Amino acid sequence: MTLAVDESRVGELVKSLSRKMLINGEWVDAADGRTFDTLNPATEEPLAAVAQGDKEDADRAVRAARAAFDENAPWRRMPHGARGRILHRLGDLILEHLDDFALLESLDNGKPYAVAKAADVPLAADLFHYMSGWATKTEGATIPVSGLDPAQYLGFTLREPVGVCAQIIPWNFPLLMAAWKLGPALAAGNTTILKPAEQTPLSALLLGELAMQAGVPAGVLNIVTGFGEAGAALAAHPDVDKVAFTGSTEVGREIVQAASGNLKKVSLELGGKSPNVVYADADLDKAIAGSAHAIFFNQGECCVAGSRLYVEEPVYEEVVAGITEQARSIKVGDGLDPETSMGPLVSQEQFDRVTGYIRSGRDDGATIFGGDRVGDRGYFVAPTVLTGTREDMTAVREEIFGPVVAAAPFHAETDVLPTANNTNYGLGAGVFTRDIGKAYRTARRLRAGTVWVNTWNVFDASLPFGGYKESGWGREMGAAVFNNYLETKTVLTDLG
Ligand code: NAP
Ligand code: MG
Repeated sequence: MTLAVDESRVGELVKSLSRKMLINGEWVDAADGRTFDTLNPATEEPLAAVAQGDKEDADRAVRAARAAFDENAPWRRMPHGARGRILHRLGDLILEHLDDFALLESLDNGKPYAVAKAADVPLAADLFHYMSGWATKTEGATIPVSGLDPAQYLGFTLREPVGVCAQIIPWNFPLLMAAWKLGPALAAGNTTILKPAEQTPLSALLLGELAMQAGVPAGVLNIVTGFGEAGAALAAHPDVDKVAFTGSTEVGREIVQAASGNLKKVSLELGGKSPNVVYADADLDKAIAGSAHAIFFNQGECCVAGSRLYVEEPVYEEVVAGITEQARSIKVGDGLDPETSMGPLVSQEQFDRVTGYIRSGRDDGATIFGGDRVGDRGYFVAPTVLTGTREDMTAVREEIFGPVVAAAPFHAETDVLPTANNTNYGLGAGVFTRDIGKAYRTARRLRAGTVWVNTWNVFDASLPFGGYKESGWGREMGAAVFNNYLETKTVLTDLG
């Protein structure tokens, strides 16, 4: 295999990285000195031993973030424009380190280097650039009073940072998820503790380094690497004002419980089982390519993966054959091989989970295309299409978080909508059609936070993203994200 990058760079980059945690502007070991290995999922070999933070480290990080939030601390006294410029600079620095970030994401998560370079890293930079502008625009309002004498009472609102934010992120888009969390929290003037996923801590550590270079003051951004216990300690911490979490619905529920002690604010971005509706009048080339991308992009490790495919009867065979053909042509391999279009799953655990769902689909009577392990080293699974599926199958109901789509035909617009909405989740959904009326009616009736029409997996820092139903609370990105990171204060003055 010829690598997409110079081989010596791989070792050099990993060696140069900090494996310590960032607390109060210093790179520190875990209080008890423990470390854990992060693996390359393509080779199953350790990449680096990283500090294993736990409750005590979470506590140190919270103390640093609290001190940095003090009214007289530099972050709070800084003009809003200066704060915005720091975030803009961080966006620039991410682009200057495009190759290194893409390499780290590919090594640590498994995703193709070219994908990380074209998607994860530029989107993370754009997020910081976009959010930097909001630092100066978190405006309150002057509000005409209703039942009071307007000549006597002046009412206005201020929008103020919530305070110390714990931000817990998953492994599927490590850098991008860090950006989605940190960008708005910092733009709004909060201080943060980021807890990256145990599988993929490396890009967050480089981001921390660059944030300090960009001018983020000590204690404003802290990074605690480690396992779920570190996340749990942050979620339960009495001096944390807000917790933002992206990950499984199961852990989302635990976060809500943990947060109830001091009733800290909670926002959640959880799982999905997103329906994709293809009507017979769609541009079929576009629908086939879009539907394959919906499920196979990023090894299917996307919270919005289009994992339930509903195709109108007359074109069902043709669309499924087209997607199967795309699945066949996907080159599964090491993310650093330029030929690779799909990398390994992130871990042994995720491999077992995904192959377990494929087995359950088979046991429940579905017909399986693909589904096999690829090679004998690394967590590679072939792209998989299940046909002959029923609503009640586990593989159709539960989030698989792998490259596995369950397809079924439908007869009419009126039939497909209840079926598409028959899920506890509501994160993403999509519709392929040339009929604008049908597109709009379907988009209106799908119960999901994002509906894509004739496309899939397209994101923009300006557009709100989040879940209906059990897919979450609150929105990421756009103006809407500031509902998570700002309090509203009313100031009422008696002018008389
Ligand atoms: P997860 O356990 O929900 O992990 C997400 C983050 O939460 C990680 O940083 C994790 O730390 C941390 N965490 C774990 N237990 C915690 C607790 N009790 N309190 C606070 N934080 C905690 O997800 P996973 O185990 O990596 O993946 C399991 C499934 O979740 C996947 O198969 C997929 O279905 C779903 N998932 C969804 C998304 C999404 O974007 N919605 C992303 C990833 C996974 P550790 O890494 O140390 O465990
Ligand atoms: Mg890893």
